[in-house]
Amino acid sequence: MKNTMLKSRRIDRTQWGGVLLSFFFAVQLPAAFAQTALPSVETLEKVAQEAYAKFKTDQSGKNADYIPALAKVSSNLFGITIVTREGKIINVGDVDYSFSIQSCSKVFTMCLVMQESGDKAIYEKVNVEPTGEAFNSIRAIEEGDGRADNPFVNPGAIATVSLVKAANAQERWDKIIGCYNQFAGEKLTVLDEIYKSEAATNYRNRGIAHILFNSGHLYAEPLECTDVYTKQCSVGVTCKQLAVMGATLANHGVNPITKERCLDSKYVPRVLSVMTMDGFYDGSGAWAWNAGLPAKTGVGGGVVAVVPGQMAIVGFAPPLDKLGNSVRAQEAIRFIAEQLDLNIFGSAR
Ligand code: GLU
Repeated sequence: MKNTMLKSRRIDRTQWGGVLLSFFFAVQLPAAFAQTALPSVETLEKVAQEAYAKFKTDQSGKNADYIPALAKVSSNLFGITIVTREGKIINVGDVDYSFSIQSCSKVFTMCLVMQESGDKAIYEKVNVEPTGEAFNSIRAIEEGDGRADNPFVNPGAIATVSLVKAANAQERWDKIIGCYNQFAGEKLTVLDEIYKSEAATNYRNRGIAHILFNSGHLYAEPLECTDVYTKQCSVGVTCKQLAVMGATLANHGVNPITKERCLDSKYVPRVLSVMTMDGFYDGSGAWAWNAGLPAKTGVGGGVVAVVPGQMAIVGFAPPLDKLGNSVRAQEAIRFIAEQLDLNIFGSAR
């Protein structure tokens, strides 16, 4: 009798182990990998079409003209692309026009530096603080501790370029364009007219690079870094190409089309946090308040927003508001985010 009881207890313990293991495999493990359900392609199409129709005729804002070639781009262009983590693509409007990526590039050079040298390289050598100033502010550098403030203002972006490990300008450029190609899953090229126009007029950025170098916060030759930075801003992208780049971040660093890993997943939250705090320059607070999505804008008229774990939404329209952010692109993305309840801080309904 005694023996039987002991035996049955032992069997019970074994069974409990089995129960716990089954619980882990049935409930805990799937929960750890659970992903938010994506809206259907039909829903995404419908909302993107609505956003396009709603904002197409908004004439407010003005093309950037401090880079003369940008003033010549048609102000009527307007495109929206959504790319999901599953690689589904939704296109509306002028999605085949190749516009200059401008400051949206800053996100991906930051990714390259993190991948090469770890996230501390950005945190310690560039910093991640919002400036509350214009994207090319010199006062912001002088008022801080001499570092460039964050990777998305021009000083920080040039400092980020200087952190790419390279022996010369060619190697620096090859690494940067190689990284962008991987994120886009396609070979991208520089828009020559934009590059020449900005290279001929970028005295302020050259000045910024020298100020940083002087205080020990630029880590390679100033004119080389400014030129490579100017080239990276002149890379041409369509809405779809930029949206695949953003969707790679939404998909934890893996390109949803090519399935290639472009960034270690542990760095993705860092990138998205900087996009949330600094992506809209001095309009970042209002953007977080209104749209609740990490995003980056560029003076070429592009905006890339990331819905973590789900999708990227890109809007493109050249006219900018006073802070340098595309009017129609931000309206469209904000509308889509509201309709689909995508705010990362919680439901705003
Ligand atoms: N290439 C531009 C500049 O350096 C980028 C600015 C932007 O897109 O915000 O001024």
